[in-house]
Amino acid sequence: MKCEIIRDLLPLCLDGLASEESRREVGEHLASCPACREAAEGMKARIEAPLPPLCPDTIRPFRKLRRRMVLAVLAAILACTLAAGCAFFLCGVGWQVDSGSVSMEASVQNGILTLDFTLRDGGILHAVSRLESPGGAWSIEFRECLPFPLDDRGSNPERYSWGLHTRDQDGNPIPLPQSVVLRFRDKSEVLSIPDLLLEAQD
Ligand SMILES: [Zn+2]
Repeated sequence: MKCEIIRDLLPLCLDGLASEESRREVGEHLASCPACREAAEGMKARIEAPLPPLCPDTIRPFRKLRRRMVLAVLAAILACTLAAGCAFFLCGVGWQVDSGSVSMEASVQNGILTLDFTLRDGGILHAVSRLESPGGAWSIEFRECLPFPLDDRGSNPERYSWGLHTRDQDGNPIPLPQSVVLRFRDKSEVLSIPDLLLEAQD
């Protein structure tokens, strides 16, 4: 077989892709042809040599890219947290309102004392009422907040109604707290519940 054909077959033989017959013929040729034997040794050495390490220039851009991606993800998380925090504050917690921006009307109906508060500027009135101590005074804190798309605050979001049962189901008077404290940004007002009842019944 010609040396040229042998050289063409050598890579296939080294890769184990040549047929048995080709391998045998190449082997026979190599035994008798020093030039082809040398070429085969060279080829084999190149194949078995360890791969050169990746050049640092090739690696660095990926590292940079990875760092940039991590930074981008962190920035996105931070932005989302800030946005959620702002949304929670503006739409959930809100800010305290001045006493001058809330009007109040008291009424008594079916044994229930109702205090209707309205935020004059038409914003969302977000009031939080709680019993200061068991059997003590109630307090209502007035805050204003922004509308939140998923939170339906009814058709009158500027209003807040606070009710107190004055009689039980049998019509007997219920012991009432003496006062209710209205907490505004500028001041707190203490309203006497007996006075409110008198006023509302007039
Ligand atoms: Zn040869």
